[in-house]
Amino acid sequence: MSESQVLDVAIIGAGFAGIGAAIRLRQKGIGNFAIFERGERPGGTWRDNTYPGAACDIPSRLYSYSFAPNPDWSQTYSGSAEILGYIDSMVEEFGIGPRIRYGHTVTGVEYDEAGGLWTVAFTGRRRKVRARTVVLASGPLANASLPAIPGIETFEGHKIHSARWDHDYDFAGKRVAVVGTGASAVQIIPELVRQAGSVKVFQRTPGWVLPRVNRRTNTLTKRVYRQLPIAESLAREAWFWGHESVALGVVWNTPLTRVVESVSLLHLRSQVRDPWLRRQLTPDFRAGCKRLLMSSDYYPALQRDNCTLVTWPIASISPHGIRTAEGIEHRFDCIVFATGFDVSKAGTPIPVTGREGRVLADEWRGGAYAFKSVTVAGYPNLFLTFGPNSGPGHNSALVYMEAQIDYLTDAIGLILDRGLRSLEVRRERQDRYNVRLQKRLTATTWNSGCHSWYLTDEGFNATMYPGFGTQYTRQLAAVDLDDFVVTPGIRTPGEQRPVPAGTG
Ligand SMILES: Cc1cc2nc3c(=O)[nH]c(=O)nc-3n(C[C@H](O)[C@H](O)[C@H](O)COP(=O)(O)OP(=O)(O)OC[C@H]3O[C@@H](n4cnc5c(N)ncnc54)[C@H](O)[C@@H]3O)c2cc1C
Repeated sequence: MSESQVLDVAIIGAGFAGIGAAIRLRQKGIGNFAIFERGERPGGTWRDNTYPGAACDIPSRLYSYSFAPNPDWSQTYSGSAEILGYIDSMVEEFGIGPRIRYGHTVTGVEYDEAGGLWTVAFTGRRRKVRARTVVLASGPLANASLPAIPGIETFEGHKIHSARWDHDYDFAGKRVAVVGTGASAVQIIPELVRQAGSVKVFQRTPGWVLPRVNRRTNTLTKRVYRQLPIAESLAREAWFWGHESVALGVVWNTPLTRVVESVSLLHLRSQVRDPWLRRQLTPDFRAGCKRLLMSSDYYPALQRDNCTLVTWPIASISPHGIRTAEGIEHRFDCIVFATGFDVSKAGTPIPVTGREGRVLADEWRGGAYAFKSVTVAGYPNLFLTFGPNSGPGHNSALVYMEAQIDYLTDAIGLILDRGLRSLEVRRERQDRYNVRLQKRLTATTWNSGCHSWYLTDEGFNATMYPGFGTQYTRQLAAVDLDDFVVTPGIRTPGEQRPVPAGTG
């Protein structure tokens, strides 16, 4: 790529979304793109989360792209190494590798209205890249966050975040604390109790835990899937509809929510005999309000002789351990933080400067919003993956992501094929979309009163989509040019007339 070259598309991030977007661009015959990735290999979430027990909690057959089926998944819920292998195989099979620029941390993107181009800037590099369109695929859960506990910096033992696992640390005989009991923690704890001398689990709020039945895929099934691709897509469909039906109990508070809660309570009762421990592990909010947890070995792990559940709130971290609110200091050699990520619910992961110098982080200060989660008024030719209100609570993120990718690559195709200067969503369409969306969110379990990472501190829901996966994907099925202000001009600069609406 020469310095003066203008890319058709600059993709930021080589996780599932960035790689998926690149594949779809290629399949549409768009070749002048590059992916800028701060890491040294592709994979995003699955490159970074290598903690023991790391796995998806949506079946792999559904937690994969329909355009890149994998008949060889070894089990229902594959581990992070296998998922990373799947991403690597897509990079290889679709020839994406040469397009990825590793070690490129994007520090900001800025729209130059006069030229109709985006400028992409990088850490430690003077050279900037110009591109006609940008796909911001930097991931919702890409930046690990340590909690703001007083004294955290004074701890003299070893600190590990779940998303930055230290594989050289020897846990044998060590006193280990695990802070957090969310989706990563319930995967880590069963592995850790086998390795460490002792484990204390610090729980703020217990979650709803459902059993996870993980089966190995036998050779015959793999062979059938390989020789009869239709069988594999039917299996995927079955998983999809199974998860869609769960929305009825998870997205909204309905009689089915009670069913989900009953299954979870039954699971708790069957695995935990001690009534006091059961009480400590019983949630006090409606199922679905926070992310559902999937594990069949979490409760047994908590009851091992070398494991203790601590429910006193953490007051501070001292040089030797953790002080809880009742004044006890628990001493540790190592603290594992399974405390999640810095999620951009308000603000943006990198500075984004749009038309007339507007800054997206300023506009999103009260909470992020977009049109159908993919485009934002004032930021022409910029597309988001996993943008505001695109999170599913009950289904595979990849189904949602695939719909975003198809939509945005169609839009990019239109821009390039028709030589458009820009495509920018109409503000009134975006506002109307968001008014409806926020109204629908008020009826969901996420907005039913519990404190979760889905909401901003003020209680604004900028993360979840209030509906079925089918509704989400249907709205993205086609680019309707009526939704956009379309400015022609790259090929024929003299012609600045807006294209008549409704020609998409
Ligand atoms: C432990 C864990 C388990 C999960 N399990 C599931 C599951 O079972 N089912 C499900 O649906 N979802 C799950 N998720 C959600 C998961 O994040 C998404 O499914 C998906 O992997 C996100 O892909 P992505 O490409 O959008 O983001 P990422 O995978 O995070 O990739 C983003 C990429 O962008 C790069 N990047 C970020 N900022 C910059 C920058 N400034 N410059 C250059 N590069 C940058 C990052 O290095 C990264 O490689 C899980 C998440 C975690 C953390």
